[in-house]
Amino acid sequence: MVRATAIHKHFGALHVLKGVDLEVAERELVFVIGPSGSGKSTLLRCLNRLEEPSSGSVVVDGIDLLDPRTDINHARQRIGMVFQSFNLYPHMTALGNVTLALRKVAGRGRAEADAIGQAALARVGLADRAGHMPAQLSGGQQQRVAIARAIALEPRVMLFDEPTSALDPELVGSVLQVMRELRESGMTMVVVSHEMGFARAAADRVLFMDEGMIVEAGPPAQIFAAPAQERTRAFISQIK
Ligand code: ATP
Ligand code: MG
Repeated sequence: MVRATAIHKHFGALHVLKGVDLEVAERELVFVIGPSGSGKSTLLRCLNRLEEPSSGSVVVDGIDLLDPRTDINHARQRIGMVFQSFNLYPHMTALGNVTLALRKVAGRGRAEADAIGQAALARVGLADRAGHMPAQLSGGQQQRVAIARAIALEPRVMLFDEPTSALDPELVGSVLQVMRELRESGMTMVVVSHEMGFARAAADRVLFMDEGMIVEAGPPAQIFAAPAQERTRAFISQIK
């Protein structure tokens, strides 16, 4: 579903990604961990071309994202992304936020967009909050609106960059629950997060990144309990 090959990314003199290979199979959940500054967000952003890799190739659902002939706005509809900050439009209702791209990018009419948007809000447990403004919703609810906004476009893969890091602890569970349900529905997912419990329960593979490289990858039980690399061991022992 996702095949990133030999990704390098430079920011000026800074070499942030140093030859990353990442393959994500359909319906797989890949969980990415690593120290701050190791390149996790940059890697995710390369997977939907929010960042342009300096070299390498990224193919998502058969579409070569770096091919100049690729219509990137069209391709991005297949790649949902959820960030730490929810980035909802404050002056629009939950439903307005969810339907905006459906109408403006996917070209759906209002009635159709509203029906799809309502269904997406129902999937994240917010059917009764469609008319609320973001400020009237908790952080966890706002993040679920952001997830609904992404899934309403029927993406083939969902990218999550620390989706629960900005939330009060008691609100984290509701967002992880929605992510678990999404995973159970067969969504292909790449998740950068510190929620190791979620990784143990839901990840197929865990990747440990350090200094712009994937140091080690394996099933959660192996990476958390018996990492092969010393750097992985040191990182895991810190976060436990
Ligand atoms: P964190 O866990 O803190 O979110 P991260 O693993 O996501 O860290 P990145 O955000 O990918 O790390 O950043 C990797 C490196 O690239 C850092 O040194 C960062 O300062 C640098 N960097 C990221 N984006 C830019 C940018 N737009 N311009 C210049 N440098 C950048
Ligand atoms: Mg980051």
